[in-house]
Amino acid sequence: MSEANQEKPHSKAMVVMAHADDAEFSCSGTVAKWCREGWEVVYVLCTDGSKGSDDLEMTPEKLAAIRKQEQIEAGKILGIKTVEFLDYPDSYLTPSLDLRKDIARVIRKHKPDVLICPSPFRSFDNNSYIGHPDHMAAGEAALAAVYPTARDRLTYPDLIKEGLEPHKVKEVWITMGGGAANHWVELTEEHLELSMKALKAHVSQVPPDVDSRMREWKARAGSLRGLRYAEAFRVFKLRG
Ligand SMILES: [Zn+2]
Repeated sequence: MSEANQEKPHSKAMVVMAHADDAEFSCSGTVAKWCREGWEVVYVLCTDGSKGSDDLEMTPEKLAAIRKQEQIEAGKILGIKTVEFLDYPDSYLTPSLDLRKDIARVIRKHKPDVLICPSPFRSFDNNSYIGHPDHMAAGEAALAAVYPTARDRLTYPDLIKEGLEPHKVKEVWITMGGGAANHWVELTEEHLELSMKALKAHVSQVPPDVDSRMREWKARAGSLRGLRYAEAFRVFKLRG
């Protein structure tokens, strides 16, 4: 095969999540690994995170500002330079056409090779967690944004007028998807340490025993493939 025909290795990723801290819980080891390998990774947060508090003194506005800052700090630990906040209200997210278009806009702007998003399905694999509707909405909207909205010229002509040309994402990686994984990313101790440090940057959200829980989750994912630590994904390689 001539050099011109060889596909360039992937080097740009986008992580679309509902809430600040979702990426740190689910795929931050992989993000840390990619950033250390020189990838450009962009986070897209669909909601403003304004409902995740039991503090009686807390207001949605105050919480949204705190969580935005926590997400920026967590991203810096991992090596992320750009976080796009779409600012939909927390806990009311639906896979609307508006959300789909907003995600398509940031896909066209940043042109990722790989996009990570949550599963659009409710998983019944875990007997102590039934899933968050915002996660499923973010997953469904992100998948619809990848295909066909970001790819098709005629769907939103106004995006073209904004200077945002169509973009084809090459791979979709679904996280938080229960038992449907087909790809495991091996994590070193360094990747795991970075992911735990980034998770703990979400001071308003994470419980004190989060380190041991993270270690246990990543070890459990790794054990399925004989690895010490890993993160599991359902990977789709999309046709060009
Ligand atoms: Zn969440």
